Amino acid sequence: MPREYLKKATLHARSDAGETREIVRGILDDIEAGGDAAALEYAKKFDKYEGEILLSDEAIAAATALVPEKLRRDIDFSHANVKKFAEAQKGTVQDFEIEVVPGLTAGQKAIPVDAAGCYVPGGRYSHIASAIMTVTTAKVAGCKNIVACSPPRPDVGIAPAIIYAAHVCGADKILAMGGVQGVAAMTFGLFGLPKANILVGPGNQFVAEAKRMLFGRVGIDMIAGPTDSLILADKTADPEVVAADLVGQAEHGYNSPVWLVTDHKPLAKEVMRLVPKHIETLPEVNRDNATAAWRDYAEVIVCADREEMAACSDDYAPEHLTVQAEDLDWWLNRLSCYGSLFLGEETTVAFGDKAAGTNHVLPTSGAASYTGGLSVHKYMKIVTWQRATREGAKPVAEATARIARLEGMEGHARTADIRLKKYFPDETFD
Ligand code: NAD
Repeated sequence: MPREYLKKATLHARSDAGETREIVRGILDDIEAGGDAAALEYAKKFDKYEGEILLSDEAIAAATALVPEKLRRDIDFSHANVKKFAEAQKGTVQDFEIEVVPGLTAGQKAIPVDAAGCYVPGGRYSHIASAIMTVTTAKVAGCKNIVACSPPRPDVGIAPAIIYAAHVCGADKILAMGGVQGVAAMTFGLFGLPKANILVGPGNQFVAEAKRMLFGRVGIDMIAGPTDSLILADKTADPEVVAADLVGQAEHGYNSPVWLVTDHKPLAKEVMRLVPKHIETLPEVNRDNATAAWRDYAEVIVCADREEMAACSDDYAPEHLTVQAEDLDWWLNRLSCYGSLFLGEETTVAFGDKAAGTNHVLPTSGAASYTGGLSVHKYMKIVTWQRATREGAKPVAEATARIARLEGMEGHARTADIRLKKYFPDETFD
């Protein structure tokens, strides 16, 4: 049976890339030429903010005092979980050395980059969790200079909870600047900041485009588009829970796709009946986002069996993938394209987004077919080294000289020859 679409997207992530590129190019050029003053002008223009740009210890303490005790404890809980997971992740990158040929030893080392620039989005929602995800992983990776940057709200500055989260997770500096100007400030080292070696964190199309343009002179984690989510559900799934989970992710933005893939048509129909009811009860902004996302971008697909469901899911390579079906181990073994996987009804994407420990900065728009999300590894350079005894160098030098000559690289060949002649003067080599 071919895949049956009970609901198909009428829109796909539209590309206004040309226009965005032009805007971002202009801002980056202005700021590179005009430095701090130009960045401040853009902060005034886009965020109507002329307050403190680099937060002082007093400003951090004042913000902390504004965060309710219970929320502080929740942020601390999330931080502890993300830290614990990142530490385990770091343990999977091992330095090692091996003897490749007798007498020639080679090794690998993982070295953290010095300066990380963590973008914490803050235009539409206050993304407290993005501060936790980006700053904590940078800290665990071992970055020495961590800057957290987030857009200030007009006149009042960064949301206090974001300031608290960035500070408690280990940010060395907090920059009240959003969008392209924030990204530029971290990359160019404005306001006395260290020049970032890597930029991480999600953001809107202007932030994403700025990262894309700056990539090369600075590393980046990924280029994030609108968030997307797919749910795989069989006849055992609870339609109320499935509907709530779809709506929960559709509220991200008007163009955030959510997809339901099932082998049980009655479930699909019931979920489609319930989703609008869940959306109706959301607060206004969230409702508008979810309504548009569900209307224009959502899809509901019925497949013949679970194998076809898995194949369908892998084709979408979703950022977030949820399984509400029997035999979770089968799904864990079978699925291969996702940013983060949520197995069973007892966990959900929002847990991973906010507090479960796994990172929420994840590949979107199908990028999960070739990459995972933010991890400590993104802040680390996996480098190699080698050394040799004279005996160990001999066979490598002989092979090197012959390969280099065939390539036409005489200078390379001679670096091998000179060693062979020096270490083994009584022998001849061809
Ligand atoms: P944002 O912080 O990314 O962007 C706000 C900034 O955009 C402002 O400071 C302003 O400088 C700039 N800006 C606004 N209009 C502009 C214009 N016309 N020209 C130039 N610059 C302009 O906040 P946002 O807009 O709310 O977007 C947050 C994004 O982050 C959303 O797309 C959300 O889905 C995404 N997000 C993704 C994840 C993930 O893990 N994938 C997590 C959290 C958030």
